[in-house]
Amino acid sequence: MSDACLIAEVAVAAPLKKTLSYLVPPELAVAARIGVRLRVPLGRRRAVGFLLELSRGSGEGLKAIAEVLDDEPLFPPALIPLFRRAAGYYLHPLGQVIATALPAGLSGRGSAPPILRETLYAPTEDESEPPGRRQRQILDCIRQAKEVSLTELRSRFDAPHAPLKRLLELGLISARQQERLRDPFLSWPLQPETPPEPAPAQLRVLEQLRPLLEQGGFRSALLHGVTGSGKTEVYLRAIETVLERGRQALVLVPEIALTPQLVGRFRNRFTGRAKISVLHSGLSDGERYDAWRNVARGEADIVIGARSAIFAPMPEPGLIIVDEEHETSYKQSEGFRYNARDLALLRGQQQGVPVLLGSATPALPSYRRALDGEALLLHLPGRAAGQPLPEVELIDMTATPFRTLLSDPLAGALEANLQRGEQSLVLLNRRGFAPYLLCADCGQDFRCPNCEISLTYHRGRLLLRCHYCDYQLPPPESCPRCGGSQLDPEGAGTERLELELKERFPEARLARMDRDTTTARGAHRRFMERMLAGEIDILVGTQMIAKGHDFPGVTLVGVVNADATLNFPDFRAGERTFALLSQVAGRAGRGTLPGRVLIQTYAPEHYALQHAASHDYAGFYRQELALRRELGYPPYGFLANLVLSGNDPQRVERAARELAGRLLPLPPGAELLGPVPCLLAKLRGKARMQILLKAAQRPALRRALDRFEQLSRPVPNGVALAVDVDPVDM
Ligand code: ADP
Ligand code: ZN
Repeated sequence: MSDACLIAEVAVAAPLKKTLSYLVPPELAVAARIGVRLRVPLGRRRAVGFLLELSRGSGEGLKAIAEVLDDEPLFPPALIPLFRRAAGYYLHPLGQVIATALPAGLSGRGSAPPILRETLYAPTEDESEPPGRRQRQILDCIRQAKEVSLTELRSRFDAPHAPLKRLLELGLISARQQERLRDPFLSWPLQPETPPEPAPAQLRVLEQLRPLLEQGGFRSALLHGVTGSGKTEVYLRAIETVLERGRQALVLVPEIALTPQLVGRFRNRFTGRAKISVLHSGLSDGERYDAWRNVARGEADIVIGARSAIFAPMPEPGLIIVDEEHETSYKQSEGFRYNARDLALLRGQQQGVPVLLGSATPALPSYRRALDGEALLLHLPGRAAGQPLPEVELIDMTATPFRTLLSDPLAGALEANLQRGEQSLVLLNRRGFAPYLLCADCGQDFRCPNCEISLTYHRGRLLLRCHYCDYQLPPPESCPRCGGSQLDPEGAGTERLELELKERFPEARLARMDRDTTTARGAHRRFMERMLAGEIDILVGTQMIAKGHDFPGVTLVGVVNADATLNFPDFRAGERTFALLSQVAGRAGRGTLPGRVLIQTYAPEHYALQHAASHDYAGFYRQELALRRELGYPPYGFLANLVLSGNDPQRVERAARELAGRLLPLPPGAELLGPVPCLLAKLRGKARMQILLKAAQRPALRRALDRFEQLSRPVPNGVALAVDVDPVDM
């Protein structure tokens, strides 16, 4: 018999280009289901793998699976084609793709977090009364509620164990065990709401979306709506339609910690009608594991999550939404370097699901796809409740004295806002006190020994810190080069801005929101709550304060140093600046009072600032597109970056030159730029070089990558190679 054996196709979580076949021993045949993790022999060690397919064959020469690690599948078979396509597209080993997709704690060889169980108590048929008073009280509670968990009883009664034991012995109650899911969102208070009547523009958009939602099948749509235009309301209504069809909805958001309001709105809207699961990295391993299994069992109607939720194992999605689709946080910049927005489109294609992208400032490739007719373009041109967009003024800082942090117009506007009792936001996209500490005598600065970039001076914690590798150093008393005793902080970050505001407005209630003040769990949410409760007059922060929040009390937004992102040596600098300014401006005037935005800049004529000031996405888009066309950058060109790194700079450079040489000549239509040092030529102690592959058409880039893939041993020992397809920062 040639096909007597059960054979498993396994993606091993290791850097292997191919999947491997293993024999399923008879005693594991029942447990070995598609989507479970396995322990398999690999060479002389053991590794974790994922079961992708079962078939029958002779099994000759195959090694056997050692162990099945899960009782139930971690992902449905329908996701496997997505994993395979993603692995192919991003040139990343399939097993490592799946390991990245699964919740942390499941990907490695360690065991999964423990499954929590709880005891539930219910009354029996026996209606007699017990003797003790405490027993009677607890029994009453159980009889009233029909079924109560031990957790709940513990919260109501002191030490309920003994009375419960007695009640069980008397046969008055019964007990059963149930799996308990950890859900940190259960503790959030719900606020009943009356959904607003959709405005005419929203109705039009929903009408255009209806065929996609009702018929299913892959189509994509881009919802371009200015900040506060009611995009979220469109998502909520679109999801209603999908739920009515018995399907689930997947909602991707850039960083869930930054969007507690959005999660709250979903819960308020669907409470009692649909089950919502939230997946994100801020959860503990146990919470994430529970949420994941819940989704895999089809128990979640709506899944909201950040980047990695694109792999959420929902069985039958009916809609995938990507909110703020232009956000670069959808791109993972290490390991498996995927873009969740692009994978959303891929998943939609593979599972026959419509995909809705939404943004006030769509990414250029997304907008171009829509204009080319590949995606349905939907517009929400004005704010939902009819408020005007805020007035934006550019303040030319070239006319102010050097080192002015707050211009007179901005300081005056903040003062006036304080007096009126209205709230203000001030954005400075740099954390810490100052980006440099310089010796006044010899100009010596302090650099990270691992990354060679300037250490940021943090005054509160009295540290010099590297924002890339977190290297820290107490600021020295004197200059190590010349012995000079005067070390001055140069430039400004949010800490310094906060201090300056404190000095100017001692009576104002100030708060600072940046990565340094939001490390604690729930910190974002507390900032939101304090803002909404009117407990903060001026909120200072990095781009964190620009994202998605709906603070009706904010009437003034100030931007200090709008040029910080503009001067970044990246072809997307204009696009990023435009998006950031549009987003932060969009925080002003969302309530009943009109908003005002003041942007301090040394480049007031720059088109990105000009168009942001006039809320003119179309104008920005046209100008930026012309530039991109000239340079052959996306969406007029396609890129892949090969990044080499290692401890020995010479070795890395030699390897890079050799690799570039072996790639040439490239297939027609593709070109190679480099090798050159990366923008961060040294990072975490490793020297870094890059080779950029570029083509005007995607297939030409693909052929170039195929050629790369065919190389055996593209880099020597001691040099690491990462492939970044469609890179967002280089
Ligand atoms: P976006 O997601 O585009 O920024 P939101 O959906 O958050 O916009 O809507 C902005 C504000 O307008 C929210 O406070 C929301 O409750 C409100 N809103 C949305 N739609 C309507 C409507 N049809 N009528 C009145 N208010 C609305
Ligand atoms: Zn560093």
